[in-house]
Amino acid sequence: MRSHYCGQLNETMVDQTITLCGWVHRRRDHGGVIFLDMRDREGVAQVVVDPDTAEAFATADRARSEYVLRIQGRVRLRPEGTQNPGMPTGLIEVLAKDVEVLNSAATPPFQLDEHGKVGEEIRLKHRYIDLRRPEMIDKLRLRSRISHSVRGYLEAEGFLDIETPILTRATPEGARDYLVPSRTHAGSFFALPQSPQLFKQILMVSGFDRYYQIAKCFRDEDLRADRQPEFTQIDIEASFVEEQDIMSITEGMIRQLFSDVLNVDLPEFGRMPYSEAMNRFGSDKPDMRIPLELTDVDDLMKGVDFKVFSGPANAEDGRVAALKVKGGASLSRKEIDEYTKFVGIYGARGLAWIKVNDRSAGLEGLQSPIVKFMEGVIEELLDRVGAEDGDIIFFGADKANIVNEAIGALRVKLGEDLNLYTAEWAPLWVVDFPMFEHDGTRLQALHHPFTAPSCDLETLKANPEAALSRAYDMVLNGTELGGGSIRIHDQAMQQSVLELLGIGEEEANEKFGFLLDALQYGAPPHGGLAFGLDRLVMLMSGARTIREVIAFPKTQSAACLMTDAPGDVRPEQLKELNIRLRQKVKAEGDKEETAGH
Ligand code: ASP
Repeated sequence: MRSHYCGQLNETMVDQTITLCGWVHRRRDHGGVIFLDMRDREGVAQVVVDPDTAEAFATADRARSEYVLRIQGRVRLRPEGTQNPGMPTGLIEVLAKDVEVLNSAATPPFQLDEHGKVGEEIRLKHRYIDLRRPEMIDKLRLRSRISHSVRGYLEAEGFLDIETPILTRATPEGARDYLVPSRTHAGSFFALPQSPQLFKQILMVSGFDRYYQIAKCFRDEDLRADRQPEFTQIDIEASFVEEQDIMSITEGMIRQLFSDVLNVDLPEFGRMPYSEAMNRFGSDKPDMRIPLELTDVDDLMKGVDFKVFSGPANAEDGRVAALKVKGGASLSRKEIDEYTKFVGIYGARGLAWIKVNDRSAGLEGLQSPIVKFMEGVIEELLDRVGAEDGDIIFFGADKANIVNEAIGALRVKLGEDLNLYTAEWAPLWVVDFPMFEHDGTRLQALHHPFTAPSCDLETLKANPEAALSRAYDMVLNGTELGGGSIRIHDQAMQQSVLELLGIGEEEANEKFGFLLDALQYGAPPHGGLAFGLDRLVMLMSGARTIREVIAFPKTQSAACLMTDAPGDVRPEQLKELNIRLRQKVKAEGDKEETAGH
């Protein structure tokens, strides 16, 4: 139907007769001449319809926003003075000879270039319109190029793309499962995979050696922050490998990807133990573009006459950390109050600070509500953080995890607010994670229960909390791009780790007996990693939320506004599935929701 995409036209085509198909982006009447900005996937071109071509003119006259038209005409240079160098097709226009309406359109719920005026809800409900926006098309195009680059790299490295089931059993990645009732096995349920973890390990036992999949994963989490109940992973596993092998393969993949798609040559990937990341940056995914660091000052604060500091400084699980911000003394009281509120989100009960106005003036040169308590230690404190005139020092004092979270987040926020970035891209490997963390009642796997420890079985059993794992995370600009590990391939070790996690033999057999069985039949040493594709695309496209890089995302409450899913089902369907609803809850508004079963 068409000879060219609208966005493909340029001055080399002057005098050619072309045919475009697309949508009316905008229509303007100018002293008897009609201008149509015609839009398709590739861009926008200006079409001029002259009254001389009476039939075309009449058709153009009744065309409205988002009508679908086919236009035949001749490319010509725009008259001097009307050119638009800011637009890829801005030097030319099409003089229409023939205009055909392929379809009309109801008045759209919002104008594409005025999408900011309507809330995200309206845009998600009419996603088909929202996806017409050039920015959305660009992001999904980038997403497609990213998957293409990744596939190309992995295929060239000998990885096989193998699909794993969607209807399966629970995979323990730490979230709630999405369950699917079975009709043929009354009372039984499938779980949607939280990741293909167990299947990819089984593929290694089967000898496939190198596997990858761009896989959908499902996690029914309380949707904090920027998460989606279904998301996409670039999932990778290989046999006869050690940490270094997986790290260099996947680093190569990300390097090639950035070069292919963004023309960026990523700097060297640093490597940092988890404990150092927590200590220096309060985070296991530190943003290395920001030149701010937490400094431990526990030893200095042990004896000060200020409970807020001396308490945590003396407590075993406490931490007092300082964060010096160069030039930060110019922050206003109001700004500091805002930061105090900000750290409150992370559980910090306050934000102490010292402004260094004039170091040579001793205490007099410092401005701070707490400096009076610091007399004996102030010089050493200032030296330790390297304070100079004009700096501000913030403090976190609490349980170590609260200090890390709060001051770690403050560090990132200050980096952003004060634009302290020293690089555009700062990749990093975080390694040497602890095997377990204690949640107060029992041990939990920091990665997942199939991750191998760095020590032998006896050492692990003797002191599980001190054990490190063979896990690694790739971090870019403060975002965890992916994480993985070398796995346990020895059945006895796997069973012991499950025991340490409080998963008894019976439960283990019921949940993943098939993996334990498989490990007995010649499981090779293996390991892998999974990247979050949505987050990767978001980072590479500069999008603000992952919803912007997913064609049909769900809302924060895990609903699809366009299809209105999840929805009610007919009573017969429930009966077939042997499900009886316990109660019908009349939700807010008039939409009925079901609860329980
Ligand atoms: N299955 C893990 C995850 O989804 C990744 C991996 O260990 O390969 O986080």
